Amino acid sequence: MASAAGSSSTPAHNAPLPPSASSAARSSRIAPHSHIKGLGLTPEGYASLDTAGFVGQNHAREACGVIVDLIKSRKFSGRALLLVGAPGTGKTALALAVSHELGTKVPFCPMVGSEVYSTEVKKTEVLAEAFRRAIGLRIKETKEVYEGEVTELTPTESENPLSGYGKTVSHVVLRLDPTIYEAILKEKIVVGDVIYIEANTGAVKRVGRSDAYASSYDLESETYVPLPKGDVHKKKELVQDVTLGDLDAANARPQGGQDIMSVMGSLVKSKRTEVTEKLRNEVNKVVKNYVDQGVAEVVPGVVFIDEVHMLDIECFTYLNALLESQMAPTVIFATNRGNSLIRGTTDIVSAHGIPVDLLDRCMIVKTESYVTEQIAKVLQLRANVEGLKMGAGVLEKLAAEGEKSSLRYALQLLTPASILAGIAGRTQIEVEDIGEMNELFLDAKTSAANIAEAGYEL
Ligand code: ATP
Repeated sequence: MASAAGSSSTPAHNAPLPPSASSAARSSRIAPHSHIKGLGLTPEGYASLDTAGFVGQNHAREACGVIVDLIKSRKFSGRALLLVGAPGTGKTALALAVSHELGTKVPFCPMVGSEVYSTEVKKTEVLAEAFRRAIGLRIKETKEVYEGEVTELTPTESENPLSGYGKTVSHVVLRLDPTIYEAILKEKIVVGDVIYIEANTGAVKRVGRSDAYASSYDLESETYVPLPKGDVHKKKELVQDVTLGDLDAANARPQGGQDIMSVMGSLVKSKRTEVTEKLRNEVNKVVKNYVDQGVAEVVPGVVFIDEVHMLDIECFTYLNALLESQMAPTVIFATNRGNSLIRGTTDIVSAHGIPVDLLDRCMIVKTESYVTEQIAKVLQLRANVEGLKMGAGVLEKLAAEGEKSSLRYALQLLTPASILAGIAGRTQIEVEDIGEMNELFLDAKTSAANIAEAGYEL
């Protein structure tokens, strides 16, 4: 790993980085798993009872733990993890847990197989982009900053140049441009916060709270005892996390400036809007330079392809090549299919709809179906996360619904049931709300049974 040492040849980051590559679609795929914090394994690698937000699936969790060890010891390259199991049995949750286990700053890039089919972008491009978004780059730079504790934040109407903003801040701020004060307001900085302000850009960041301050705050009178000034002017190592996907995108639309993004952007003369293989190679070269200088560190993340059976033979061939590439992230596939036709072929049937050569590279882990008690535990976890209260018997009723149809169906009833409770003027879900939900909506099995009874074809 590259060291964090700074370098005089390091370009300054003058422009803000573009937002991280997480699209709304991606975060909506992650939100239902916010209760999952990891695999919940003991130091020996055994699944502890229902911890880290994970209920059951002990074998799968332990198997994933072994994979995490392999990844950490860099012995998983060229391979992939394939999670197989019925819908709603926690395959996505497991993939996310693996990424949590690899570290909090590890990029996790989820997609579904069918995302590759677009009229505008080539299938292989979509895959290549997902792989790039799953490789993080931690850029470390030593910058000149003003750092100190905000010792005073007093409403004032004085002739102070900052009075237009209604408040004044400590010495750290008063020396600087009023726009910094705006940044301070935006960051909701308060007295006692230790902040730094980048000398060049004026970017403001909260670095923590001052313990000394905490003890100087008198709750009764709400007065502050000003504390001695902090270390006002110094060099500080700043860390920025981006992905190769971010860098590709920034360099496909070059802007002016001297930051790492636009320095790379200037490598590309034309104002192209498309990320090409040539551009990716150019970005790689610059990244390699940064890594060699000790300014940046590559953080391989996880690319998760759900419904992998939706990919076609062309994608599978390309994936084989991507897995071999030097800067490949960890690859996790998931499918709920058994033997299926490989898309893009007319007659090749294979396990999970995946060609044998790719299957050969996969370590396959199976997820199991849930029993009522486990469904109840997951429901309780989700209700806690979503802040939903359940009256007597609701959990049992919902778990029974889950057992009858699926865990996901039961989970999906939670929020609408809370809306019904709200309409009825209640703050907690009652059994009658679940009953009403069942009148309003059908689970998949009931819908299929209704169709069969009416004699329609599915
Ligand atoms: P699909 O095949 O349809 O993609 P899946 O196997 O990926 O389904 P998930 O999306 O991971 O299933 O699970 C459905 C929901 O149930 C999610 O909210 C997930 O976090 C939760 N869940 C599933 N299994 C568990 C578990 N063992 N412990 C806690 N939560 C779980």
